[in-house]
Amino acid sequence: MKKLLTMLMMAALVTVTVKAAVAADTLAEVKKKGVLVVGCKDSLPPFGYVDEKSRQIVGYDIDFVNAIAKKMGVKVELKPVTSASRMPQLQEGHIDIIAATMTKNADRAKVIDFSHTYFFTGQKFITKKGTVKSLKDLEGKRIGTAKGSTSEQNVKKALPTSTVLSYDDYPQAFLALQQGKVAAVTTDEAILAGILAKAPNKSQFEIPALQISDEPYGLGMRKGDTNFVNFVNKTILEMEKSGEAAKIFNKWFGPGTQFHLQRNFKIAADK
Ligand code: GLU
Repeated sequence: MKKLLTMLMMAALVTVTVKAAVAADTLAEVKKKGVLVVGCKDSLPPFGYVDEKSRQIVGYDIDFVNAIAKKMGVKVELKPVTSASRMPQLQEGHIDIIAATMTKNADRAKVIDFSHTYFFTGQKFITKKGTVKSLKDLEGKRIGTAKGSTSEQNVKKALPTSTVLSYDDYPQAFLALQQGKVAAVTTDEAILAGILAKAPNKSQFEIPALQISDEPYGLGMRKGDTNFVNFVNKTILEMEKSGEAAKIFNKWFGPGTQFHLQRNFKIAADK
């Protein structure tokens, strides 16, 4: 019995060691297996959402990782993640990269590595039309957002007297707003614009001009996965130079699209 237990423990140890070794060079490993496993959102237009016609997950984040996978000569497998699950999914080796509306910040950079910024937005609110003119109007109110997001942390700081209700995702928070359970939903403006664009009763809501943070998005990779991080960074700088990055932006946010936003950033190497 004791011998069996030791053998089992040894086997477990070997598995862990192999996994750690795999994590160290995702670039080589992904090329070998021929598929890049991507953690993405599946209900946040236009970043990652299920297209009604094709039933496939599409969006700005997806186009970026598709371009990176193409450069590697591999296929893409999309795995839906939530704001709270994306980092554990990456660390546990269930996904190779996060492309999921994820803000780069110092706290997260202690745990994972980020690419250069490939999208830039800022945190705002969706409210019932005409109810909110300044942050004061939200003091002491119930505000919906998503678990594990920077939105959750920022709003707690900006409105310490409010009650923050954290849902698994933003569509659930928006449902709570429609049902009158919260006075506002807060997250990145580009996400709010996407939710509003798809809402059947959108004329009842608005995004007041109240921004409480800057949110630069990065692709997330395992800590110390240097070859892969360098490859991804090189690819997105090339995409900026060739105009492919601007083309992807215009496809989802350009004039005439339902998510129209100005491109207020350029992909550049971090200083
Ligand atoms: N960009 C913010 C974050 O990374 C909010 C959006 C999200 O939850 O994915 O937390």
